[in-house]
This record gives sequence, structure tokens and C-alpha cells, in this order.
Amino acid sequence: MAIILDGKALAEEIKEKLRVEVAQSGLHPGLAVVVVGDNPASRIYVDSKKKDCAVCGIKSEEIALPADAGEEKLLAVIAELNQRPDIHGILVQLPLPEGYSEQKVIQAIAPEKDVDAFHLINVGRIMVGNYAFLPCTPAGVMELLDHYGIDPKGKHCVVVGRSDIVGKPQAMMMLHRHATVTICHSRTPDLSAITRQADILVAAVGKVNLITADMVKPGAVVVDVAMNRDENGKLCGDVDFANVEPIASYITPVPGGVGPMTRAMLLENTLTAAKAAVGLQKE
Ligand code: NAP
Repeated sequence: MAIILDGKALAEEIKEKLRVEVAQSGLHPGLAVVVVGDNPASRIYVDSKKKDCAVCGIKSEEIALPADAGEEKLLAVIAELNQRPDIHGILVQLPLPEGYSEQKVIQAIAPEKDVDAFHLINVGRIMVGNYAFLPCTPAGVMELLDHYGIDPKGKHCVVVGRSDIVGKPQAMMMLHRHATVTICHSRTPDLSAITRQADILVAAVGKVNLITADMVKPGAVVVDVAMNRDENGKLCGDVDFANVEPIASYITPVPGGVGPMTRAMLLENTLTAAKAAVGLQKE
């Protein structure tokens, strides 16, 4: 039986710590969330981000644009937010509707306000390990492992998925923590031969039951980043939890694992940005 990596509980602890820190700091961190169009999934994410901010004493401001507002208008909104001293973090909710270049929009955000850490400057800083912000999802995974005393040093970490927002930065963070890292993707020929070598297995694909028990080394730490819906519409990850949990040493549930940690890291990044704006470094 594996120990459950309880991201929900840890995220609550982090939020409480941030609430106290914000209150004591005298800072008034502000997060702007820019939403274009009316994607229902985005709506849920944006509402939960606003709720999280309120809990921690972070001001959140939603800027909602119609889907047909156009890239020029969106870039003008970002340019204005870049200048505002009361806004420390800017997040553009992705995906954007058709007709917008996500890269162009992300690159328009001032790097010091880029709390998602998607700007090329921040991506580059992560590469060399001299970063201001870390992308929220892989940062949340690292916090969760640290909390449970799981040290990646010297371990073989296999990351399944190579997206710019999860897989690649996750692999880089593991590397910085002295893991030996393998990254797998859709063209990896014999996935299970590689996943079976993992001491720490991070699944970030988006396919229900991709990781079955025969693909996991007994005693491995299994982190499931994915958020999928099964055939009954129930939220689930990439890992066949029922059959993998008995052989893993630690495992994240879905929901209640990486998801809440991602949300907590956004708040932490916003406070980091607010501190940096007044010349304070993150502790
Ligand atoms: P993505 O951009 O679609 O990337 C998926 C990756 O999986 C790609 O690198 C793809 O390979 C790889 N892949 C696809 N099929 C595969 C297969 N059969 N075997 C091995 N690799 C395969 O997705 P993402 O944005 O990284 O998100 C991944 C999952 O995490 C999704 O379920 C998403 O909802 C979830 N997510 C969760 C959180 C959270 O807070 N918990 C945050 C972000 C994302 P190629 O590169 O070769 O196409």
C-alpha cells in the first residue's frame, strides 16, 4: 500500500502560510487574470484562482474580453497591466480562441509579472537554474515531493510527456535536483521498458489508464499530473490508480494531488512578484 501524496492538504497549509505572510508583510499583492472568450473549463479555473487569492489576501482582478476582441486589443490590455504598480502578476488564461498567437501574447507579458513562468526569459532562467518563478504545475510536484521527504538526488526520474508547461520544466527541475532524468513522449517506442526503470515516475500526458501496474517498478514514487475524464465523466489521471497504488511507495491521487498544488504555486509566485517589486527577495 502506497503512502498518498496529499496535495490537497499540503496546498491548504501553503495557503495558510501565504495568508499569514501577506498579512504580516504589509504588501498588497495583485494578480490580473485575463480571459478571452467563454471557454467553460477556463471559467472554472479562473473562478477557483480568484477564490484562492481571496483566501490569501491577494487582490485578483479579472479582465474579460470577448472572443472576437482581437490580438491587438489583448496586447494593449497586457501593455497596460505591465505598467500598473498594483498588479504584480499577469496570467492569460489558455487556451486562447482561434486567431490569437499564444506565443505572441505570452511574450508581451513583462517577465517580472509572468507568474505562469511561460515567458522565454523565464523559460531560459529555469534552464540554467537561476529563476525568479517556476511554472506552477512542476513546481507543485517538487514541493509535494519535498514535503514527504522524497529526494530526487541520484534517483532515476522518468517524465512521460514533454510539453513546455509541464514535462520539459519538470524534467529540468528534477535534473537541478540531481536526478537522472529520462523524458518520454508519443514517439517513445517501448514506453513500459523505460517507465519500469523509474524510481520517480511523473505522468503528464492526458490519457486515461496509460500507466498500468506492469509499467511501474515496485516501490516507485508515482506522480500523476494529468486531469482526464473517464467514460463516466469522473476526474482521473494517466495512472491506473487502483492497480498501481498497491505496488507504489508513494502516489498522488487525482483529484487531490498535483491540481491543488498547482493552484497554491500560483499564489506563491504572485507573492514572490510583489516582494520583488519592492526589492524583497523570496525567502
Ligand atoms: P500536452 O501539451 O498535450 O502534452 C502531452 C504530452 O504527452 C506530449 O508531450 C505528448 O507527446 C505526450 N504523449 C501523448 N501520448 C503519449 C503516449 N501514448 N505515450 C507517451 N507520451 C505521450 O499536455 P500538457 O499540457 O502537458 O498536460 C498533460 C496532462 O496534465 C493533461 O491531462 C492536463 O490536463 C494535465 N495538467 C494538469 C495540471 C494540474 O494542475 N494538475 C496542469 C497542467 C496540465 P508529443 O510531444 O510527442 O506529442
